Amino acid sequence: MRHEAPPGSVSSSGKRVHGKASLVRTRRVKVDPENPAEEVIKDAAHVIGSGGLVAFPTETVYGLGADALNPDAVMRVFRVKGRPPDNPLIVHVADPDSVYLLASEVPRVADLLIERFWPGPLTLVLKRTEMVPPVTSAGLDTVAVRMPAHAVPLALIRTAGTPIAAPSANRSGSPSPTTADHVMRDLEGEIELVLDGGPTEIGVESTVLDVTVEPPEVLRPGGLPVEEIERVIGSVRVPDWARGLERYASRPRAPGMKYRHYAPKARLVLVEGRPQDVRYRVQELVNEFTSKGIRVGVLTTDGKRYENATTVDLGPSWDLRAVARSLFSSIRALDESGVDVVVAEGVEERGMGLAIMNRLRKASGGEIVYV
Ligand code: AMP
Ligand code: MG
Repeated sequence: MRHEAPPGSVSSSGKRVHGKASLVRTRRVKVDPENPAEEVIKDAAHVIGSGGLVAFPTETVYGLGADALNPDAVMRVFRVKGRPPDNPLIVHVADPDSVYLLASEVPRVADLLIERFWPGPLTLVLKRTEMVPPVTSAGLDTVAVRMPAHAVPLALIRTAGTPIAAPSANRSGSPSPTTADHVMRDLEGEIELVLDGGPTEIGVESTVLDVTVEPPEVLRPGGLPVEEIERVIGSVRVPDWARGLERYASRPRAPGMKYRHYAPKARLVLVEGRPQDVRYRVQELVNEFTSKGIRVGVLTTDGKRYENATTVDLGPSWDLRAVARSLFSSIRALDESGVDVVVAEGVEERGMGLAIMNRLRKASGGEIVYV
């Protein structure tokens, strides 16, 4: 069902929809993340089959899905996200063998990784076949493929009978959604259906690994730690820009790397260094800002307290999985609390820490204080 609404109109749930025309009534439907009901999946598959857009939970973040083989549907994904057309989408499959339809070459390392880590938070970049529409791959001769470890997308892909292209279900540039609420906030009035399967388990996006080069190169650190990949295939390259250190970029950046990402509306300042120095410098920064009447939020770990700031604890620094799980929702929460600046503590760059630091550095837009 479609209905027109004037710019700045209020949607059915009473929220403003980006101050522009809302064209679609977005249905939000609860789904059991472990045992999705058949009728819910059939409904969603029907939307996908008719070229519509469905947001769904995965084990990483919520995805915004379209039929990967339908160029018009895929084009709509770019449009509703406000995503630059040169930033390709990940194609999601429901069984490992589908990779042979989408990829023209599957090197041995890819087979080893698929065998060990699929389904899971690992995306492989491979040479693509003609089956993949150019728009899905942003005109590149490669395609990014992943098999998610979540019953909802797996059932949806199987029932729709097509691979599903799905970037994160947020407006381009804002933090990725880890709940259906986040999706509604960004995309209500733009997409047909949101499947609400509760908060996501990992909380950051998949690790993207380019296996068309030797040694394979990490294009984006994510839910699968690089150390685990290296245990299976040996050393991989992690370029400095993939750590989020854009100023060290030595060659044209990978697609999508040149945009500010994961960012709150507030300015975000990241403080990196030894924990005791970081703690001291964060409080100093808070004091400097508040003395100028600027409202400050702090992203901390280990339950540390700061004076004169709205502080959100991401979790224990020894449990970086917990920190990753709460990262994006905490950034969104601080934004909602109305702070002008977020000061974030850096974490150790091991395991999930690499993905966390990539997101924080990108969210900071380069405003990093080294102590
Ligand atoms: P998102 O789906 O929003 O989490 O973003 C997908 C990520 O995968 C982006 O960082 C893309 O640049 C990357 N990606 C997707 N397809 C390719 C590809 N063919 N080559 C390189 N990177 C890709
Ligand atoms: Mg994204």
